[in-house]
Amino acid sequence: LHIDQPLAEGQAVALDEGQANYLFAVMRLQVGAALLLFNGRDGEWRAEVAEAAKRRGILICRTQTKPQQMPPDLWLLFSPLRKERTAFLVEKAVELGVARLLPVSTRYLAGDRFRLEKERAHAVEAAEQCGATFVPQVEELQSLDRVLKSWDPARRLFWADEALAGQAAAWPEAVPGPAAILIGPEGGFSPEEKERLRALPYVAPLSLGPRILRAETAALAALTLWQSHYGD
Ligand code: SAM
Repeated sequence: LHIDQPLAEGQAVALDEGQANYLFAVMRLQVGAALLLFNGRDGEWRAEVAEAAKRRGILICRTQTKPQQMPPDLWLLFSPLRKERTAFLVEKAVELGVARLLPVSTRYLAGDRFRLEKERAHAVEAAEQCGATFVPQVEELQSLDRVLKSWDPARRLFWADEALAGQAAAWPEAVPGPAAILIGPEGGFSPEEKERLRALPYVAPLSLGPRILRAETAALAALTLWQSHYGD
């Protein structure tokens, strides 16, 4: 369970109404039951239910089961898709390991409205489900233009460019340090956007194989390739 409170040996954790309802009414945990907690800072802890009421509860942290793990310094920029496909993309990105998810609007944006709170909740659920000790930051939708204006050139931006489909993926040999992957919208980037991306010195185009992938498949493929090149 993700909990936004400090975790340490003997630490009491007070549950809010939603958490108490989930643990005691939905999961039917009782006093003495054990569960795993993480907060993104202190690793994963085994805790015990000390008090269980309808709208509140207390857990006590017992032992640390995992040290804090940090994801690679990798961001994923993507254009929002239809809502269930955005949810899929967010879930898979959390499982594969990214530090930050940045939805960007582009000229040919075709997806649904980006539901920030829902996607943040999906990210928490995905982290809980896959045993991660960290939940990536999910940002508000911003225009690609705005994101690029404040870009730190030290962060390499790998642009998944379907125009390269068929060529071998060109990843740098050494781990490139701070990096980000950019996946375009279903409609592709406009000619002006492509021209701008090509002109930026920190942008490196990337091929994801011979066929044109749907955006969520492209995100998954790029993150998997990243892991196979640089993952530990
Ligand atoms: N309709 C668009 C077009 O043909 O220009 C295709 C867009 S594709 C469905 C969505 C995004 O996935 C692309 O913008 C690109 O970032 C990525 N993508 C898909 N296939 C790719 C490939 N083979 N190599 C690199 N990127 C790819």
